[in-house]
Amino acid sequence: MGQRRYEQFDVIGFDADDTLWQSEDGFRSNELRFVELISPYTAMGIDIRAALTATERKNLGTFGYGVKSFAISMVEAAITISAGAVPVEVISQLVNMTRDQLEAPVHLLPFVPEVLEQVGSATKLVLITKGDLVHQTHKIQTSGLAHHFDHLEIVLEKDVETYAGLLHRFGVAPDRFLMVGNSVRSDILPVMALGGHGVHVPYHMLWELEHVDHNELIVELASLAELPAWLGYD
Ligand SMILES: [Mg+2]
Repeated sequence: MGQRRYEQFDVIGFDADDTLWQSEDGFRSNELRFVELISPYTAMGIDIRAALTATERKNLGTFGYGVKSFAISMVEAAITISAGAVPVEVISQLVNMTRDQLEAPVHLLPFVPEVLEQVGSATKLVLITKGDLVHQTHKIQTSGLAHHFDHLEIVLEKDVETYAGLLHRFGVAPDRFLMVGNSVRSDILPVMALGGHGVHVPYHMLWELEHVDHNELIVELASLAELPAWLGYD
């Protein structure tokens, strides 16, 4: 009997948003609502959604990731696109939409607790998510998943430098680390650049600013439920 693949790893990292639970759905529905709310105050021919994404892109370095940053970008884009004509009632609705998004219950993706239970039986698990500290903390606490993880990390950016610092703190060599996530840009490429391993589990929607062009050969699973078998569990 050969070596099981899970024996190659000392630590497995999991992304959270759209890997363990739904996230992009909330942004998409608020984005659609934004377009509906703003169109009456917009000149014909303006692509409202594209303008909002451009505002998010411009603000990312200053505001960081997450729902509250998205909210400020919505307000800014609403004022700019409407040339100041957007009424205060609409701004108020944007704030309420944001509160609803922040308070929405966590929706776990299928088989997540079972998969964590199984792959955590032989390997240390860590959760690595980026975004707003308050919102991510709330989601972790209410997800019922925290006990599966040795470390819960909320980071500003998922880049090579951040992963290098985390792996050093975990005391794991990069080639003994596997990261699992839905974003090639944030979860896979920076880990591979360090000499670590990645498994891409795509979600059916991806935020425009997470799209990336690359030539790397990347392991892709159709769902998290396939991870135990890929790792060599019966
Ligand atoms: Mg994600």
